[in-house]
Amino acid sequence: MLHPIESSARSANVAVRRSTAGQAGTGTQQLDHLDDNPWHTGAACRRDEAGLFFAPSKEPTAARLAREEQAKQVCARCPVLLECREHALAQPEPYGVWGGLTAAERRVVLARRRRRESELREARRVGAGRLIAG
Ligand code: SF4
Repeated sequence: MLHPIESSARSANVAVRRSTAGQAGTGTQQLDHLDDNPWHTGAACRRDEAGLFFAPSKEPTAARLAREEQAKQVCARCPVLLECREHALAQPEPYGVWGGLTAAERRVVLARRRRRESELREARRVGAGRLIAG
């Protein structure tokens, strides 16, 4: 999926292309999937902020940290932060700031979730064994 910064421009494009596609009788099927995830239409980030959310090549660390902090400030006032974050974790999205988290921070969250799920599975297994031995 494209980053939500594309959503405002994409929504406008879809509206225009839908109206012309309907008249021409082509193209609507190709565009239908864009409505599948409407959460990003509420995104606070906009196309002209794309430079905040993705790293240019060979970005120095201090510049990266400053840029990511600015992106996170945009995310902090975003009404779809949780939806965005969960989307980026579920895919998982490998690059950019999504839902107020950098790619490295998302990897940490995913590792914690995997560890927790593993611990829960083990606890259930041990608990079931005790019931059987009972
Ligand atoms: S949480 Fe951040 S990246 Fe996600 S839609 Fe909102 S502003 Fe954009």
